[in-house]
Amino acid sequence: MKNQETDIVVVGAGPVGLMCAYLAQLCGLRAVVLDQSTGPLAVGRADALNARTLQLLEIPGLFDELYPLGKPCNTSSVWANGRFLSRQSSWWNELEGCLHKHFLMLGQPHLEKLLDRRLKEVGAPVRRLSSVTDIEVLDDGCLTKLSSGKTIRSKYLIGADGSRSIVRERLGVPFEITRPQIVWAVIDGLIETDFPKVPEIIVFQAESSDVAWIPREADIDRFYVRMDTKEFQLEEALAKINRAMTPHRLRFKRIDWFSRFSVKESVAERFSVKERAFLAGDSCHVHSVNGGQGLNTGLADAFNLIWKLNMVINAGAPSTLLSTYEEERKPVAMSVVATSGELVRSTKFSETGTHAQDYVKIVEKRSGNVTGMGIRYGESGLKGRRLFDFEVYKGEEKLRLYSLLDYSKYTLLLFGEPKQGPSLPAYVQCIQLRNSMAEGPYRTTSAYYKDQAIVVRPDAYIEAAGNLADVPSLLREIL
Ligand SMILES: Cc1cc2nc3c(=O)[nH]c(=O)nc-3n(C[C@H](O)[C@H](O)[C@H](O)COP(=O)(O)OP(=O)(O)OC[C@H]3O[C@@H](n4cnc5c(N)ncnc54)[C@H](O)[C@@H]3O)c2cc1C
Repeated sequence: MKNQETDIVVVGAGPVGLMCAYLAQLCGLRAVVLDQSTGPLAVGRADALNARTLQLLEIPGLFDELYPLGKPCNTSSVWANGRFLSRQSSWWNELEGCLHKHFLMLGQPHLEKLLDRRLKEVGAPVRRLSSVTDIEVLDDGCLTKLSSGKTIRSKYLIGADGSRSIVRERLGVPFEITRPQIVWAVIDGLIETDFPKVPEIIVFQAESSDVAWIPREADIDRFYVRMDTKEFQLEEALAKINRAMTPHRLRFKRIDWFSRFSVKESVAERFSVKERAFLAGDSCHVHSVNGGQGLNTGLADAFNLIWKLNMVINAGAPSTLLSTYEEERKPVAMSVVATSGELVRSTKFSETGTHAQDYVKIVEKRSGNVTGMGIRYGESGLKGRRLFDFEVYKGEEKLRLYSLLDYSKYTLLLFGEPKQGPSLPAYVQCIQLRNSMAEGPYRTTSAYYKDQAIVVRPDAYIEAAGNLADVPSLLREIL
């Protein structure tokens, strides 16, 4: 049988592989996404999209469909022995340049199902029941071998095949795992309780275990329970919930998902090999669920990687652009693992017995990771910072600035009147924003970036910034 050829093979159609494939389609790249499963996830796993993810989802037009399905939540409170101890949300409320200052509590299946459907709609469905057995990285491309005996040749390969990644293993990338010996139960379902139900993350402080109550979409709630041993029954987790919530009572009228997991932490030594094969999501970083960062970090990997492949394949960018993927994303993965590691250890080890309050203080200290908004590439100035999002007007219509970005291009934003209109390469779009009184297709009342020219990467980080007279030199900084 003749081998197939394509631009990118994505191994794994979890949320990260699906996002990689969808973004690639938006860029006009030929991407084949392979998964050994029969369909997208039906229940469980990740439960929250952070503020940065909510911004990124606007760019490929996914936000409007997902947002109404979830439940906004930006408050954490602590209770002990039936008494309220504290409540905090300052790290969300103080976010700048952000229209959704909260987590959106929404299960991973919703995102997977939406992306799976969108890929079908654009004529590039996930190839299900396709198990990858081997890969080979050549100087000018990659070979992906399937259990069916077929081989697919591609220019590039992405391993988004989860924590037990065969791609990572075949690439020979070391992935040393730390096990802090902390075990959790997680339960999703419909509850009945005399505790007041509020859309807050509630952490219960108890002598022997910490219990966290996570509000979720529709009629479900989630409980995380730190357990003492690896082997335990559901009833033991339910007993711990009731002990932590005493004097209140809680029972599950319906259980949708129950899982046990012991915490594993690791960051892959490399995120790419020969700038041909790349790792993204859980295949290159795993950690505890504390802080809700796994899915969010993986999605940010996808947004960071695909535009770079697009610029190299379609716009003639040098392949050195691809090495910035690991340079930018590996430090982020390391800080995410450090954040979740500090959080999860605080649930078990507490000198003062104030686990839950310590936990919330750590969330505050490390809120840049938890909200996703503290991630930046580069040390100083506007370069490498996330673009702020704010309202803009097109005639009478109110839009988000992020809705004007195009994932297949850089965007030159002109906040004012340049003396001369710039001449632009095909991979840059220009959007001029005037002040509220002026004529023009787009207006804003925001004072952010006033009288500046900003070059924005497709993943909404600032590539270059200067005054309006600097546009030609700013454009020279890209590619
Ligand atoms: C049991 C469990 C519980 C979790 N709970 C939470 C939680 O409560 N909160 C939270 O924030 N995060 C949670 N996570 C983490 C979160 O789900 C992950 O961070 C997220 O799924 C990572 O997405 P991914 O696409 O990188 O990998 P995955 O979602 O793991 O997707 C990998 C995909 O690759 C496919 N695949 C693997 N090998 C092959 C192969 N050889 N050939 C073809 N296909 C292959 C798999 O079928 C799968 O679809 C949990 C993870 C697990 C495993």
